[in-house]
Amino acid sequence: MAITKISAEAVPLPARDAIRWDYAPAPESPAVARLAPSYDLFIGGHFAPPEGGSYAVTVNPATGEALAEVAQAGPADVQRAVAVAQDAAPAWAALPGLERGKVLFRIARLIQERSRELAVVETLDGGKPIRESRDIDIPLAAAHFFSYAGWADKLPYALLGRPHRPRGVVAQIVPWNFPLLMAAWKLAPALACGNVAILKPADTTPLTALLLAEILQEADVPPGVVSVLSGDGAVGAALVRAPGIDKVAFTGSTAVGKDIQRALAGSDVGLTLELGGKSANIVFEDAALDQAVEGIINGIFFNQGHVCCAGSRVLVQESVAREVVDRLWHRMQRLRVGDPMDKNTDVGAINSAAQLGRIERLVEAGEQEGAIRHSVPCELPERGNWFPPTMFTDVAPAHRIATEEIFGPVVSMMTFRDESEAIEKANNSAYGLAAGVWTDKGSRAFEITNRLRAGVVWQNTFNRFDPTAAFGGFKESGFGREGGPAGLLPYLVVA
Ligand code: NDP
Repeated sequence: MAITKISAEAVPLPARDAIRWDYAPAPESPAVARLAPSYDLFIGGHFAPPEGGSYAVTVNPATGEALAEVAQAGPADVQRAVAVAQDAAPAWAALPGLERGKVLFRIARLIQERSRELAVVETLDGGKPIRESRDIDIPLAAAHFFSYAGWADKLPYALLGRPHRPRGVVAQIVPWNFPLLMAAWKLAPALACGNVAILKPADTTPLTALLLAEILQEADVPPGVVSVLSGDGAVGAALVRAPGIDKVAFTGSTAVGKDIQRALAGSDVGLTLELGGKSANIVFEDAALDQAVEGIINGIFFNQGHVCCAGSRVLVQESVAREVVDRLWHRMQRLRVGDPMDKNTDVGAINSAAQLGRIERLVEAGEQEGAIRHSVPCELPERGNWFPPTMFTDVAPAHRIATEEIFGPVVSMMTFRDESEAIEKANNSAYGLAAGVWTDKGSRAFEITNRLRAGVVWQNTFNRFDPTAAFGGFKESGFGREGGPAGLLPYLVVA
Protein backbone atom coordinates (compact mmCIF):
# COMPACT_ATOMS: atom_id res chain seq x y z
CA MET A 1 0.00 0.00 0.00
CA ALA A 2 1.44 3.37 -0.98
CA ILE A 3 1.94 6.02 1.66
CA THR A 4 1.39 9.55 0.57
CA LYS A 5 3.64 12.01 2.35
CA ILE A 6 1.75 14.80 4.05
CA SER A 7 4.77 15.97 5.95
CA ALA A 8 5.24 18.98 8.17
CA GLU A 9 7.20 20.93 5.57
CA ALA A 10 4.31 20.73 3.15
CA VAL A 11 1.82 22.08 5.64
CA PRO A 12 1.79 25.72 6.73
CA LEU A 13 1.78 25.65 10.53
CA PRO A 14 0.76 29.04 11.93
CA ALA A 15 2.48 30.06 15.17
CA ARG A 16 0.29 29.70 18.25
CA ASP A 17 1.11 33.20 19.50
CA ALA A 18 -0.32 34.71 16.35
CA ILE A 19 -3.74 33.20 17.06
CA ARG A 20 -3.96 33.30 20.86
CA TRP A 21 -7.46 33.79 22.21
CA ASP A 22 -7.88 34.69 25.81
CA TYR A 23 -10.84 33.71 27.94
CA ALA A 24 -11.52 34.82 31.49
CA PRO A 25 -11.28 31.86 33.89
CA ALA A 26 -14.66 30.15 34.46
CA PRO A 27 -13.98 27.66 37.25
CA GLU A 28 -16.63 25.35 38.66
CA SER A 29 -16.53 25.26 42.46
CA PRO A 30 -14.95 22.13 43.98
CA ALA A 31 -17.03 22.83 47.11
CA VAL A 32 -20.03 21.31 45.30
CA ALA A 33 -18.34 17.92 45.69
CA ARG A 34 -18.79 17.66 49.51
CA LEU A 35 -16.43 14.68 49.65
CA ALA A 36 -16.07 12.67 52.85
CA PRO A 37 -12.50 12.04 54.06
CA SER A 38 -13.03 8.28 53.77
CA TYR A 39 -15.28 5.83 51.88
CA ASP A 40 -16.11 2.25 52.88
CA LEU A 41 -17.24 -0.69 50.78
CA PHE A 42 -20.95 -0.92 49.93
CA ILE A 43 -22.16 -4.44 50.70
CA GLY A 44 -25.64 -5.64 51.66
CA GLY A 45 -27.18 -2.17 51.41
CA HIS A 46 -24.84 -0.38 53.78
CA PHE A 47 -21.28 0.95 53.94
CA ALA A 48 -18.81 -1.15 55.92
CA PRO A 49 -15.03 -1.22 56.34
CA PRO A 50 -13.07 -3.84 54.43
CA GLU A 51 -12.19 -7.01 56.36
CA GLY A 52 -8.48 -6.37 55.83
CA GLY A 53 -8.79 -2.72 57.02
CA SER A 54 -6.92 -1.43 53.99
CA TYR A 55 -7.56 1.99 52.40
CA ALA A 56 -5.89 3.81 49.48
CA VAL A 57 -5.89 7.48 48.61
CA THR A 58 -7.51 8.59 45.37
CA VAL A 59 -5.91 11.70 43.87
CA ASN A 60 -6.85 14.49 41.51
CA PRO A 61 -4.76 13.80 38.37
CA ALA A 62 -4.78 17.51 37.48
CA THR A 63 -3.03 18.52 40.71
CA GLY A 64 -1.79 15.38 42.46
CA GLU A 65 -3.80 16.39 45.54
CA ALA A 66 -5.45 13.71 47.66
CA LEU A 67 -9.26 13.71 47.42
CA ALA A 68 -10.30 10.95 49.85
CA GLU A 69 -9.24 7.56 51.08
CA VAL A 70 -11.13 4.60 49.70
CA ALA A 71 -11.56 1.07 51.07
CA GLN A 72 -9.64 -1.70 49.31
CA ALA A 73 -11.67 -4.89 49.15
CA GLY A 74 -10.01 -8.23 49.78
CA PRO A 75 -11.00 -11.86 49.13
CA ALA A 76 -13.21 -12.02 52.24
CA ASP A 77 -15.14 -8.94 51.07
CA VAL A 78 -15.65 -10.53 47.66
CA GLN A 79 -17.06 -13.64 49.33
CA ARG A 80 -19.33 -11.53 51.53
CA ALA A 81 -20.64 -9.54 48.54
CA VAL A 82 -21.37 -12.75 46.60
CA ALA A 83 -23.19 -14.27 49.60
CA VAL A 84 -25.45 -11.24 50.15
CA ALA A 85 -26.08 -11.03 46.40
CA GLN A 86 -27.17 -14.69 46.32
CA ASP A 87 -29.52 -14.04 49.25
CA ALA A 88 -31.04 -10.99 47.52
CA ALA A 89 -31.33 -12.57 44.06
CA PRO A 90 -34.61 -14.58 44.32
CA ALA A 91 -36.74 -11.71 45.66
CA TRP A 92 -35.35 -9.20 43.15
CA ALA A 93 -35.90 -11.61 40.25
CA ALA A 94 -39.44 -12.30 41.46
CA LEU A 95 -40.36 -8.62 41.68
CA PRO A 96 -42.69 -7.67 38.79
CA GLY A 97 -40.82 -5.83 36.02
CA LEU A 98 -43.00 -2.77 36.59
CA GLU A 99 -41.74 -2.54 40.19
CA ARG A 100 -38.08 -3.01 39.19
CA GLY A 101 -38.62 -0.31 36.60
CA LYS A 102 -39.82 2.09 39.30
CA VAL A 103 -36.62 1.51 41.27
CA LEU A 104 -34.49 2.22 38.17
CA PHE A 105 -36.56 5.29 37.47
CA ARG A 106 -35.85 6.57 41.01
CA ILE A 107 -32.10 6.00 40.49
CA ALA A 108 -32.25 8.03 37.26
CA ARG A 109 -34.08 10.89 38.96
CA LEU A 110 -31.63 10.95 41.88
CA ILE A 111 -28.66 11.04 39.46
CA GLN A 112 -30.31 14.04 37.84
CA GLU A 113 -30.87 15.71 41.21
CA ARG A 114 -27.22 15.23 42.20
CA SER A 115 -25.88 15.83 38.69
CA ARG A 116 -23.81 18.90 39.49
CA GLU A 117 -22.10 17.22 42.41
CA LEU A 118 -21.51 14.02 40.40
CA ALA A 119 -20.03 16.01 37.51
CA VAL A 120 -17.62 17.84 39.82
CA VAL A 121 -16.51 14.61 41.53
CA GLU A 122 -16.06 12.87 38.15
CA THR A 123 -13.83 15.70 36.97
CA LEU A 124 -11.83 15.96 40.21
CA ASP A 125 -11.22 12.20 40.38
CA GLY A 126 -10.66 11.52 36.67
CA GLY A 127 -9.26 14.71 35.11
CA LYS A 128 -11.85 15.11 32.35
CA PRO A 129 -13.15 18.60 31.51
CA ILE A 130 -16.14 19.64 33.62
CA ARG A 131 -17.98 20.53 30.41
CA GLU A 132 -17.88 16.87 29.39
CA SER A 133 -18.78 15.44 32.83
CA ARG A 134 -21.64 17.94 33.11
CA ASP A 135 -23.01 17.66 29.56
CA ILE A 136 -22.21 14.07 28.59
CA ASP A 137 -21.20 11.62 31.34
CA ILE A 138 -23.81 12.41 33.95
CA PRO A 139 -26.84 13.06 31.69
CA LEU A 140 -26.07 9.88 29.74
CA ALA A 141 -25.75 7.87 32.97
CA ALA A 142 -29.23 9.06 33.99
CA ALA A 143 -30.52 8.36 30.47
CA HIS A 144 -29.35 4.73 30.69
CA PHE A 145 -31.30 4.19 33.90
CA PHE A 146 -34.37 5.90 32.39
CA SER A 147 -34.14 3.84 29.24
CA TYR A 148 -33.78 0.48 31.00
CA ALA A 149 -36.44 1.47 33.56
CA GLY A 150 -38.73 1.44 30.54
CA TRP A 151 -37.57 -2.01 29.43
CA ALA A 152 -37.96 -3.72 32.84
CA ASP A 153 -41.65 -4.60 32.28
CA LYS A 154 -41.32 -5.14 28.53
CA LEU A 155 -38.84 -8.00 28.40
CA PRO A 156 -41.39 -10.34 26.74
CA TYR A 157 -41.65 -7.83 23.87
CA ALA A 158 -37.85 -7.51 23.53
CA LEU A 159 -37.62 -11.33 23.38
CA LEU A 160 -40.69 -11.88 21.18
CA GLY A 161 -42.40 -13.85 23.94
CA ARG A 162 -39.62 -16.42 24.46
CA PRO A 163 -39.35 -17.74 28.05
CA HIS A 164 -36.46 -16.16 29.93
CA ARG A 165 -34.94 -15.69 33.35
CA PRO A 166 -32.20 -13.49 34.81
CA ARG A 167 -28.68 -14.92 34.94
CA GLY A 168 -28.34 -14.37 38.69
CA VAL A 169 -25.26 -12.74 40.30
CA VAL A 170 -23.30 -10.62 37.83
CA ALA A 171 -19.78 -9.25 38.35
CA GLN A 172 -19.25 -5.92 36.59
CA ILE A 173 -15.77 -4.42 36.20
CA VAL A 174 -15.51 -0.90 34.83
CA PRO A 175 -12.55 1.27 33.76
CA TRP A 176 -11.45 4.78 34.64
CA ASN A 177 -12.34 6.67 31.48
CA PHE A 178 -16.13 7.00 32.06
CA PRO A 179 -16.54 5.83 35.66
CA LEU A 180 -20.19 6.65 36.38
CA LEU A 181 -21.37 6.20 32.80
CA MET A 182 -19.81 2.73 32.55
CA ALA A 183 -21.38 1.81 35.90
CA ALA A 184 -24.77 2.90 34.48
CA TRP A 185 -24.18 0.98 31.21
CA LYS A 186 -23.59 -2.13 33.29
CA LEU A 187 -26.04 -1.82 36.20
CA ALA A 188 -29.15 -0.52 34.40
CA PRO A 189 -29.71 -3.48 32.02
CA ALA A 190 -28.61 -6.04 34.63
CA LEU A 191 -31.11 -4.77 37.21
CA ALA A 192 -33.88 -4.30 34.66
CA CYS A 193 -33.55 -7.99 33.75
CA GLY A 194 -33.80 -9.06 37.41
CA ASN A 195 -30.12 -9.77 38.13
CA VAL A 196 -28.19 -8.71 41.20
CA ALA A 197 -24.80 -7.07 40.68
CA ILE A 198 -21.37 -6.55 42.21
CA LEU A 199 -19.61 -3.53 40.72
CA LYS A 200 -15.80 -3.04 40.76
CA PRO A 201 -14.78 0.51 39.84
CA ALA A 202 -11.23 1.33 38.65
CA ASP A 203 -8.77 2.16 41.40
CA THR A 204 -7.97 5.64 40.05
CA THR A 205 -11.66 6.68 39.80
CA PRO A 206 -13.77 5.01 42.51
CA LEU A 207 -15.62 8.05 43.87
CA THR A 208 -18.71 8.39 41.66
CA ALA A 209 -19.43 4.65 42.00
CA LEU A 210 -19.46 5.15 45.77
CA LEU A 211 -21.74 8.18 45.45
CA LEU A 212 -23.95 6.02 43.24
CA ALA A 213 -24.11 3.56 46.14
CA GLU A 214 -25.55 6.38 48.30
CA ILE A 215 -28.09 7.00 45.55
CA LEU A 216 -29.02 3.30 45.50
CA GLN A 217 -29.71 3.48 49.23
CA GLU A 218 -31.87 6.55 48.76
CA ALA A 219 -33.71 4.91 45.86
CA ASP A 220 -34.65 1.95 48.12
CA VAL A 221 -32.76 -0.62 46.09
CA PRO A 222 -33.15 -3.71 48.30
CA PRO A 223 -30.02 -4.60 50.31
CA GLY A 224 -27.64 -6.93 48.47
CA VAL A 225 -29.08 -6.20 45.00
CA VAL A 226 -26.01 -4.04 44.24
CA SER A 227 -22.65 -4.04 46.02
CA VAL A 228 -19.71 -1.79 45.20
CA LEU A 229 -16.23 -3.18 45.87
CA SER A 230 -13.53 -0.58 45.45
CA GLY A 231 -9.94 -1.74 45.19
CA ASP A 232 -7.25 -2.63 42.68
CA GLY A 233 -7.05 -5.13 39.83
CA ALA A 234 -6.64 -8.02 42.29
CA VAL A 235 -10.22 -7.43 43.48
CA GLY A 236 -11.43 -7.67 39.89
CA ALA A 237 -9.43 -10.86 39.36
CA ALA A 238 -10.85 -12.40 42.56
CA LEU A 239 -14.38 -11.32 41.71
CA VAL A 240 -14.50 -12.90 38.24
CA ARG A 241 -13.18 -16.19 39.68
CA ALA A 242 -15.43 -16.21 42.75
CA PRO A 243 -17.75 -19.23 43.12
CA GLY A 244 -21.35 -18.06 42.82
CA ILE A 245 -20.80 -15.57 39.99
CA ASP A 246 -23.13 -16.34 37.07
CA LYS A 247 -22.04 -13.69 34.59
CA VAL A 248 -19.13 -11.28 34.11
CA ALA A 249 -19.29 -7.99 32.21
CA PHE A 250 -15.92 -6.29 31.71
CA THR A 251 -14.81 -3.06 30.07
CA GLY A 252 -11.09 -2.35 29.95
CA SER A 253 -7.88 -3.43 28.28
CA THR A 254 -7.63 -6.32 25.82
CA ALA A 255 -4.91 -7.93 27.98
CA VAL A 256 -7.14 -8.14 31.07
CA GLY A 257 -10.11 -9.15 28.91
CA LYS A 258 -8.14 -12.10 27.58
CA ASP A 259 -7.07 -13.02 31.11
CA ILE A 260 -10.71 -13.09 32.22
CA GLN A 261 -11.70 -15.12 29.16
CA ARG A 262 -9.01 -17.69 29.96
CA ALA A 263 -10.13 -17.85 33.60
CA LEU A 264 -13.76 -18.52 32.61
CA ALA A 265 -13.09 -20.87 29.68
CA GLY A 266 -15.00 -24.12 30.06
CA SER A 267 -17.31 -22.75 32.78
CA ASP A 268 -20.96 -21.83 32.28
CA VAL A 269 -20.36 -18.27 33.52
CA GLY A 270 -21.67 -15.78 30.91
CA LEU A 271 -19.16 -13.21 29.63
CA THR A 272 -19.23 -9.96 27.69
CA LEU A 273 -16.04 -8.03 26.95
CA GLU A 274 -15.82 -4.42 25.79
CA LEU A 275 -12.15 -3.90 25.10
CA GLY A 276 -9.99 -1.44 23.25
CA GLY A 277 -10.01 -0.09 19.73
CA LYS A 278 -8.07 1.65 17.00
CA SER A 279 -11.01 3.15 15.20
CA ALA A 280 -10.74 4.60 11.70
CA ASN A 281 -12.29 7.98 10.96
CA ILE A 282 -12.54 8.09 7.15
CA VAL A 283 -12.79 11.42 5.31
CA PHE A 284 -13.77 11.41 1.61
CA GLU A 285 -13.02 14.31 -0.71
CA ASP A 286 -16.74 15.14 -1.07
CA ALA A 287 -17.22 15.60 2.71
CA ALA A 288 -17.97 18.95 4.31
CA LEU A 289 -14.35 19.41 5.41
CA ASP A 290 -14.88 21.85 8.27
CA GLN A 291 -17.46 19.48 9.76
CA ALA A 292 -15.10 16.55 9.23
CA VAL A 293 -12.31 18.43 11.02
CA GLU A 294 -14.67 19.04 13.98
CA GLY A 295 -15.45 15.33 13.86
CA ILE A 296 -11.75 14.45 13.97
CA ILE A 297 -11.28 16.80 16.93
CA ASN A 298 -14.25 15.30 18.77
CA GLY A 299 -13.15 11.81 17.77
CA ILE A 300 -9.70 12.01 19.33
CA PHE A 301 -9.55 14.87 21.84
CA PHE A 302 -12.85 14.14 23.64
CA ASN A 303 -11.93 12.93 27.14
CA GLN A 304 -8.18 13.36 26.29
CA GLY A 305 -8.52 10.43 23.89
CA HIS A 306 -9.24 8.08 26.82
CA VAL A 307 -12.06 6.58 24.78
CA CYS A 308 -12.24 2.95 23.64
CA CYS A 309 -13.84 4.00 20.35
CA ALA A 310 -11.63 7.11 19.82
CA GLY A 311 -11.05 7.98 16.15
CA SER A 312 -7.31 7.51 16.58
CA ARG A 313 -6.61 6.59 12.94
CA VAL A 314 -7.76 9.23 10.47
CA LEU A 315 -7.86 8.11 6.83
CA VAL A 316 -8.16 11.03 4.41
CA GLN A 317 -8.64 10.83 0.66
CA GLU A 318 -5.37 11.89 -1.00
CA SER A 319 -6.89 14.76 -2.96
CA VAL A 320 -7.87 16.61 0.24
CA ALA A 321 -5.25 15.25 2.64
CA ARG A 322 -3.11 18.34 2.77
CA GLU A 323 -6.09 20.60 3.24
CA VAL A 324 -7.54 18.47 6.04
CA VAL A 325 -4.20 18.28 7.85
CA ASP A 326 -3.81 22.03 7.53
CA ARG A 327 -7.29 22.81 8.84
CA LEU A 328 -6.95 20.22 11.62
CA TRP A 329 -3.66 21.65 12.83
CA HIS A 330 -5.16 25.13 12.75
CA ARG A 331 -8.13 23.91 14.85
CA MET A 332 -5.94 21.91 17.26
CA GLN A 333 -4.08 25.07 18.21
CA ARG A 334 -7.33 26.56 19.45
CA LEU A 335 -7.98 23.74 21.90
CA ARG A 336 -7.75 24.91 25.47
CA VAL A 337 -5.67 22.50 27.52
CA GLY A 338 -5.54 22.81 31.29
CA ASP A 339 -7.62 23.00 34.47
CA PRO A 340 -10.43 20.44 33.98
CA MET A 341 -12.62 22.41 36.40
CA ASP A 342 -12.62 25.43 34.07
CA LYS A 343 -15.77 25.43 31.93
CA ASN A 344 -13.75 26.65 28.92
CA THR A 345 -11.32 23.73 28.99
CA ASP A 346 -11.39 21.35 26.02
CA VAL A 347 -8.62 18.92 26.99
CA GLY A 348 -8.08 18.05 30.65
CA ALA A 349 -5.55 15.97 32.60
CA ILE A 350 -4.30 12.50 31.73
CA ASN A 351 -5.97 10.12 34.16
CA SER A 352 -2.86 8.70 35.83
CA ALA A 353 0.94 8.80 35.73
CA ALA A 354 0.88 5.20 34.45
CA GLN A 355 -1.36 6.16 31.53
CA LEU A 356 0.81 9.20 30.77
CA GLY A 357 3.84 6.88 30.65
CA ARG A 358 2.04 4.60 28.14
CA ILE A 359 1.19 7.57 25.91
CA GLU A 360 4.74 8.92 26.04
CA ARG A 361 6.24 5.53 25.18
CA LEU A 362 4.00 5.08 22.13
CA VAL A 363 4.59 8.63 20.91
CA GLU A 364 8.33 8.07 21.19
CA ALA A 365 7.92 4.84 19.17
CA GLY A 366 6.05 6.85 16.50
CA GLU A 367 8.94 9.28 16.17
CA GLN A 368 11.52 6.49 16.10
CA GLU A 369 9.62 4.65 13.37
CA GLY A 370 9.71 7.75 11.17
CA ALA A 371 6.31 9.40 11.53
CA ILE A 372 6.31 13.17 11.97
CA ARG A 373 5.01 14.49 15.27
CA HIS A 374 3.11 17.78 15.60
CA SER A 375 2.33 18.58 19.24
CA VAL A 376 0.49 21.82 20.01
CA PRO A 377 2.98 24.07 21.80
CA CYS A 378 0.83 24.90 24.82
CA GLU A 379 1.72 25.79 28.38
CA LEU A 380 0.95 22.80 30.54
CA PRO A 381 0.37 23.11 34.31
CA GLU A 382 3.42 22.26 36.42
CA ARG A 383 1.67 19.74 38.65
CA GLY A 384 -0.45 16.79 37.49
CA ASN A 385 -0.42 14.59 34.39
CA TRP A 386 -0.60 16.34 31.01
CA PHE A 387 -0.04 15.63 27.34
CA PRO A 388 -0.47 18.19 24.54
CA PRO A 389 -2.86 17.51 21.65
CA THR A 390 -0.74 15.71 19.07
CA MET A 391 -1.03 14.76 15.40
CA PHE A 392 1.28 12.39 13.55
CA THR A 393 1.66 12.70 9.79
CA ASP A 394 3.58 10.38 7.44
CA VAL A 395 2.23 7.39 9.31
CA ALA A 396 2.64 3.94 7.75
CA PRO A 397 -0.02 1.27 8.39
CA ALA A 398 2.54 -0.91 10.19
CA HIS A 399 3.70 1.77 12.63
CA ARG A 400 2.89 1.07 16.27
CA ILE A 401 1.00 4.38 16.44
CA ALA A 402 -1.24 3.07 13.63
CA THR A 403 -1.87 -0.33 15.18
CA GLU A 404 -1.76 -0.01 18.98
CA GLU A 405 -4.27 1.75 21.21
CA ILE A 406 -2.61 4.90 22.59
CA PHE A 407 -5.62 5.97 24.69
CA GLY A 408 -4.45 9.57 24.72
CA PRO A 409 -4.81 12.83 22.73
CA VAL A 410 -2.79 11.54 19.79
CA VAL A 411 -4.10 11.07 16.25
CA SER A 412 -2.38 9.24 13.37
CA MET A 413 -3.07 10.67 9.90
CA MET A 414 -2.99 8.38 6.85
CA THR A 415 -4.30 8.63 3.31
CA PHE A 416 -6.17 6.54 0.74
CA ARG A 417 -6.96 6.85 -2.97
CA ASP A 418 -10.33 5.16 -3.41
CA GLU A 419 -13.09 3.41 -1.49
CA SER A 420 -11.56 -0.05 -1.61
CA GLU A 421 -8.26 1.23 -0.24
CA ALA A 422 -10.12 3.09 2.52
CA ILE A 423 -11.97 -0.08 3.52
CA GLU A 424 -8.84 -2.22 3.34
CA LYS A 425 -6.89 0.18 5.54
CA ALA A 426 -9.75 0.72 7.99
CA ASN A 427 -10.22 -3.04 8.43
CA ASN A 428 -6.46 -3.61 8.72
CA SER A 429 -6.59 -3.70 12.51
CA ALA A 430 -6.67 -6.28 15.27
CA TYR A 431 -9.57 -4.28 16.68
CA GLY A 432 -13.10 -3.68 15.40
CA LEU A 433 -14.96 -1.37 17.73
CA ALA A 434 -16.02 1.75 15.81
CA ALA A 435 -15.49 3.81 12.66
CA GLY A 436 -16.58 7.11 11.16
CA VAL A 437 -17.40 7.91 7.53
CA TRP A 438 -17.45 11.51 6.26
CA THR A 439 -19.07 11.91 2.87
CA ASP A 440 -21.85 13.87 1.23
CA LYS A 441 -22.97 10.82 -0.69
CA GLY A 442 -25.53 8.61 1.07
CA SER A 443 -25.02 5.59 -1.18
CA ARG A 444 -21.29 5.65 -0.52
CA ALA A 445 -21.86 5.88 3.24
CA PHE A 446 -24.14 2.80 3.20
CA GLU A 447 -21.78 0.84 0.96
CA ILE A 448 -18.71 1.59 3.12
CA THR A 449 -20.55 1.01 6.38
CA ASN A 450 -21.60 -2.48 5.29
CA ARG A 451 -18.02 -3.40 4.48
CA LEU A 452 -16.40 -2.03 7.64
CA ARG A 453 -15.70 -4.61 10.34
CA ALA A 454 -16.67 -2.36 13.24
CA GLY A 455 -19.45 -2.69 15.81
CA VAL A 456 -20.48 0.97 15.49
CA VAL A 457 -20.16 3.16 12.39
CA TRP A 458 -20.98 6.85 12.59
CA GLN A 459 -21.81 8.83 9.46
CA ASN A 460 -20.83 12.51 9.40
CA THR A 461 -20.45 12.49 13.17
CA PHE A 462 -18.32 10.70 15.77
CA ASN A 463 -18.46 9.62 19.42
CA ARG A 464 -22.26 9.83 19.62
CA PHE A 465 -23.75 7.68 22.35
CA ASP A 466 -27.35 6.89 23.06
CA PRO A 467 -28.88 4.45 25.55
CA THR A 468 -31.18 3.05 22.87
CA ALA A 469 -28.32 2.11 20.52
CA ALA A 470 -26.24 -1.06 20.78
CA PHE A 471 -22.49 -0.66 21.36
CA GLY A 472 -19.76 -3.30 21.18
CA GLY A 473 -17.05 -4.70 18.96
CA PHE A 474 -15.53 -7.47 16.89
CA LYS A 475 -12.13 -9.15 17.01
CA GLU A 476 -9.87 -7.93 19.86
CA SER A 477 -12.43 -5.24 20.75
CA GLY A 478 -14.46 -7.94 22.47
CA PHE A 479 -17.94 -9.40 22.12
CA GLY A 480 -21.48 -8.79 23.36
CA ARG A 481 -23.49 -5.59 23.06
CA GLU A 482 -24.44 -2.93 25.60
CA GLY A 483 -27.25 -0.43 25.08
CA GLY A 484 -30.73 -0.75 23.62
CA PRO A 485 -32.69 -4.00 23.53
CA ALA A 486 -29.53 -5.85 22.43
CA GLY A 487 -28.00 -4.88 25.78
CA LEU A 488 -30.66 -6.92 27.61
CA LEU A 489 -29.67 -10.24 26.07
CA PRO A 490 -26.36 -10.85 27.92
CA TYR A 491 -28.26 -10.53 31.21
CA LEU A 492 -30.90 -13.14 30.41
CA VAL A 493 -31.01 -16.87 29.89
CA VAL A 494 -33.44 -17.25 27.02
CA ALA A 495 -35.06 -20.60 26.28
P1 NDP B 1 -7.37 -2.43 32.88
O1 NDP B 1 -7.95 -3.35 31.88
O2 NDP B 1 -6.28 -2.92 33.74
O3 NDP B 1 -8.53 -1.89 33.87
C1 NDP B 1 -9.91 -1.99 33.65
C2 NDP B 1 -10.60 -2.51 34.91
O4 NDP B 1 -10.20 -3.86 35.16
C3 NDP B 1 -10.23 -1.74 36.17
O5 NDP B 1 -11.34 -1.72 37.04
C4 NDP B 1 -9.12 -2.61 36.74
O6 NDP B 1 -8.93 -2.40 38.11
C5 NDP B 1 -9.65 -3.99 36.47
N1 NDP B 1 -8.62 -5.04 36.45
C6 NDP B 1 -7.28 -4.91 36.34
N2 NDP B 1 -6.69 -6.13 36.33
C7 NDP B 1 -7.69 -7.03 36.40
C8 NDP B 1 -7.73 -8.46 36.41
N3 NDP B 1 -6.62 -9.19 36.30
N4 NDP B 1 -8.93 -9.09 36.48
C9 NDP B 1 -10.06 -8.37 36.56
N5 NDP B 1 -10.10 -7.02 36.57
C10 NDP B 1 -8.92 -6.36 36.49
O7 NDP B 1 -6.93 -1.13 32.13
P2 NDP B 1 -5.74 -0.13 32.54
O8 NDP B 1 -6.29 0.80 33.51
O9 NDP B 1 -4.50 -0.87 32.94
O10 NDP B 1 -5.44 0.58 31.14
C11 NDP B 1 -4.50 -0.02 30.23
C12 NDP B 1 -4.90 0.20 28.82
O11 NDP B 1 -6.15 -0.44 28.60
C13 NDP B 1 -5.14 1.66 28.43
O12 NDP B 1 -3.97 2.29 28.06
C14 NDP B 1 -6.09 1.50 27.29
O13 NDP B 1 -5.37 1.24 26.12
C15 NDP B 1 -6.90 0.27 27.64
N6 NDP B 1 -8.21 0.60 28.26
C16 NDP B 1 -9.32 0.45 27.50
C17 NDP B 1 -10.55 0.81 28.02
C18 NDP B 1 -11.80 0.67 27.24
O14 NDP B 1 -12.75 1.42 27.49
N7 NDP B 1 -11.91 -0.28 26.33
C19 NDP B 1 -10.69 1.36 29.36
C20 NDP B 1 -9.45 1.42 30.11
C21 NDP B 1 -8.28 1.06 29.54
P3 NDP B 1 -7.85 -1.30 38.59
O15 NDP B 1 -8.19 -0.03 37.91
O16 NDP B 1 -8.14 -1.26 40.02
O17 NDP B 1 -6.51 -1.83 38.19
